[in-house]
Amino acid sequence: MEQMGIEDQEITYGKDIKSLTLSQLQEEMVTLGEQKFRAKQMYEWMHKKLARNYEDMSNISASLKEKCRQNYTYTSLHMLKVQESGIDGTKKYLFELADGNVVESVWMKYKHGNSVCISSQVGCRMGCRFCASTLDGLERNLLPSEMLDQIYAITLETGERVSNVVVMGTGEPMDNYDNLLQFITLLTDENGLHISQRNLTVSTCGIVPKMRELADQKLQITLALSLHATTDEKRKKLMPIANRYSLEELMEVCAYYFEQTGRRLTFEYSLVRGVNDTKEDAEELAALIKNLNCHVNLIPVNPIKERDFVQSEKHAVEAFRSRLEQQGITATVRREMGRDIDGACGQLRRKHIETAVPPSDVLS
Ligand code: SAH
Repeated sequence: MEQMGIEDQEITYGKDIKSLTLSQLQEEMVTLGEQKFRAKQMYEWMHKKLARNYEDMSNISASLKEKCRQNYTYTSLHMLKVQESGIDGTKKYLFELADGNVVESVWMKYKHGNSVCISSQVGCRMGCRFCASTLDGLERNLLPSEMLDQIYAITLETGERVSNVVVMGTGEPMDNYDNLLQFITLLTDENGLHISQRNLTVSTCGIVPKMRELADQKLQITLALSLHATTDEKRKKLMPIANRYSLEELMEVCAYYFEQTGRRLTFEYSLVRGVNDTKEDAEELAALIKNLNCHVNLIPVNPIKERDFVQSEKHAVEAFRSRLEQQGITATVRREMGRDIDGACGQLRRKHIETAVPPSDVLS
């Protein structure tokens, strides 16, 4: 994957004001010849009061605003579309970034609070066979602020507090690791939205060295691993990353994550009819993970038109779940939220790209 040249695309957030921690911002203020306390005021405007631009910041002087305009970029999203499910109130948002790229996010209402699923990259280069987000490859990484902005924009639009965040939208968070960590620092900071680490889940297709690095951070976030198969051979057919890291290595690093953090792992397993949903698959899965402190999230695969994967039948899903439970493994079937609004990862963005008029056509 290195040969794809992601290094060339790396975006630094040095001049992206909303991606800076409070202490980084304090240093910046001092460099600008401002008093240190200005940093906290600015920071609260950005991360607590969710200001969309400098104009919103009423107690900040015009001269400081001007200095900031000259020295930093200020990211904000333009909401292109909101689709609300008639079934369960789930909302799907399509946002435009400053460079014209689009990302999608999902808002879900649960009894225990509101949850937002965010994207971590524009597109994805992991190539999972069933996933719509990866069909056009990776465009670029999202900045920490651009991950936060999805949550901020949704908070403003709904007028409700977000209590849980899942990094499970488009993109592979471990492929944007540094920005992800900075995002986590900002999101959980008491001077910002102050979302508890325990209410944050990061989902990965299984980039082992990064999972190990994350474990060493000893955060209290939940790590979810997209497993989807119980043998290397089967996994390789669904997920190219399996050519890189074996299930054995994955299980080892999962055990390490628990050792370091004490956090129970989540395994995601998308059920595809006739591919990975038999009783034998369930038994193999149970055998694979039985020594780990974990929970299994079963996802009936969400069919995308570009691929011919078919969802497992309801009774097969239930049989799979109860097989796991018989083996002492807790498993839940993910409720299909927003089925009527292009709920599957990457579908809304893709639809937008496919139907959008290319800029060259607009000009001519
Ligand atoms: N790249 C990360 C997070 C994004 S995908 C990862 O791989 O975990 C979030 C979850 O949705 C993953 O488990 C992914 O495998 C799954 N997924 C993607 N497309 C899907 C589809 N069409 N049906 C069911 N699950 C899907």
